[in-house]
Amino acid sequence: MSVEKLKSNATTRIEFNRFPRVDLCHQPTPIEEMPRLGALLGGPKLHIKRDDCTGLATGGNKTRKLEFLMGEALREGADMIVTQGAVQSNHVRQSAAAACKLGMKCHVLLERRVPDRDESYEKTGNVFLDKLFGTTFEFRPNGLDMNAEAMAVTEGLRNAGHKPYFIPGGGSNATGALGYANCAQEIVDQSVQSGLHFQWLVMGTGSSGTQAGLVAGFHILGYDLPVMGISVRQPKERQTGAVLATTQKTLAHLGGPDIAPDKILVDDGYVGEGYGIPAPSTLEAIRLTARQEGILLDPVYSAKGMAGLIGLVRSGFFKPEDNVLFLHTGGSTSLFAYEDQISEDLA
Ligand SMILES: *Cc1c(COP(=O)(O)O)cnc(C)c1O
Repeated sequence: MSVEKLKSNATTRIEFNRFPRVDLCHQPTPIEEMPRLGALLGGPKLHIKRDDCTGLATGGNKTRKLEFLMGEALREGADMIVTQGAVQSNHVRQSAAAACKLGMKCHVLLERRVPDRDESYEKTGNVFLDKLFGTTFEFRPNGLDMNAEAMAVTEGLRNAGHKPYFIPGGGSNATGALGYANCAQEIVDQSVQSGLHFQWLVMGTGSSGTQAGLVAGFHILGYDLPVMGISVRQPKERQTGAVLATTQKTLAHLGGPDIAPDKILVDDGYVGEGYGIPAPSTLEAIRLTARQEGILLDPVYSAKGMAGLIGLVRSGFFKPEDNVLFLHTGGSTSLFAYEDQISEDLA
């Protein structure tokens, strides 16, 4: 849809007031240009949506999800949240901070998902901040059904007299994804205000809620902005299936129309050896974005997303006149847990 048509159609809005919500997020987050990175790569015009600047405890994409998840937790009378993530989870860090802000306790399960890390990996970066926020945590080995583990722990806490609220990994359910349907609305509003229309949105995709919320939001608004998810973990078929399932649940929650499965776009060419293991293209994305734009990415998510954007530009995927929007989902806190590999790349 053109910006002109959108302006005339600007009454189409998603009504979020019917969902419980708490105010945690600096919003709208800015959309900025990346002129030096764009010039270096020689492709389309590159822009960046700064969701690393959402304001809660170094920011990131989980803040928008937590506005709705914590809203639901408070409505249910919870005094504690229980969630799970990998050891260097940004979701856990932001959930812990949100719990502090609302005077709730936070208990988390951390999965040792990334192999061959030294002992500092479980002390620095996000883990250090989890401790600072007074979170209690327990570790799990790699490969369990972590949501099932965390739900079992939640039940145990309930039986012990607590009032826990369970948040799935990454905050990725229909409630959390509302935060990104709201971000879709925000991007449309910013496009209308600035007159700048984007042809593509590129982002790192993991537990699926961010991409699902955006796709659901743009779909309801009738806004034609394809979202390319760069997988950080799973092969294309599995990631596409996960994002589609969350998108459908989010649309059902919002009362939106059905969506064609081919609207879910995933590229799995930048995962490297696996979750939390930076590939050479990940390290290059961290270095280029820092040195061209003064922007910090993280080695687990946003730099794999940026590596995808860089790779797509180099392969001629975009037209030279396109405006491409990269969603910066945050995560730079975990840079410190990867100092060894990043320094090796810089040397
Ligand atoms: C969680 C996370 C993502 C992925 O978002 P999902 O909703 O889990 O797909 C991307 N970037 C960062 C920095 C994250 O912490």
